[in-house]
Amino acid sequence: MAVARTPFIAGNWKMNLDHLQAIAFVQKLAWSLADAKHDFADAEVAVFPPFTDLRSVQTLVVADTLPVAYGAQDVSAHDSGAYTGEISGAFLAQLGCRYVIIGHSERRTLHHETDADVNRKVLAAQRHGIVPVLCVGETAEDLEAHGASAVPVAQLRAALEGVDGSKELVIAYEPVWAIGSGQAATPAQAEQVAAALRGVVAEVFDDETAKATRILYGGSVKAANIAAFMREPNVDGALVGGASLDIDEFSSIARFS
Ligand code: PGA
Repeated sequence: MAVARTPFIAGNWKMNLDHLQAIAFVQKLAWSLADAKHDFADAEVAVFPPFTDLRSVQTLVVADTLPVAYGAQDVSAHDSGAYTGEISGAFLAQLGCRYVIIGHSERRTLHHETDADVNRKVLAAQRHGIVPVLCVGETAEDLEAHGASAVPVAQLRAALEGVDGSKELVIAYEPVWAIGSGQAATPAQAEQVAAALRGVVAEVFDDETAKATRILYGGSVKAANIAAFMREPNVDGALVGGASLDIDEFSSIARFS
């Protein structure tokens, strides 16, 4: 039986917008999405603000039942204790985070997160009932040396070690060379890697889980190129960085137009 996957458009704000700006932004975004309801493609839309914004966004979303989900950009592998500066999954769950981004290339590169760290964070998110948005992707050097799929596939296998396949997981394929560069992958390349990643999920878990798992493309997504990605059968949405900070642009992306 085919499983319909709800398209997912996720905005990774990175270290932008403080909690006051977040309140204004999320309100305007919700209005913009509601205005466009007549031609809205029924995607799930989520924002990923900095930790310090989450409480404000929670208040807004709960109070107004806005059609916007939200999550954090990282989570500690640990649940509590002497880990100065870390934020546990328990805290994020209490703030109503449905999702958390794990293994973004900026964390892997700037904070030296290994595949083992990423795996521990996926397990931590699942312990607290938060859906991981697990990022994988190859650098330009990897692409040159091994082609597009090899590194993302290896990263995914490592991240899934000991993971419970019955719990929801979102995967984001983000070629490192495409992030913030203005040079997106071609839809055909995104499709090829997304299909390979879905194959890994089928192998590690089973076909039903693979069919139900949403796989996003990320890296220089904008309103002008989203429709082409969404036409690919294995691409279920996008993880958007820079373009998620512009309300009109992000709202257009959420309508795939
Ligand atoms: P970008 O970033 O859309 O600005 O390329 C994507 C990301 O880092 O998730």
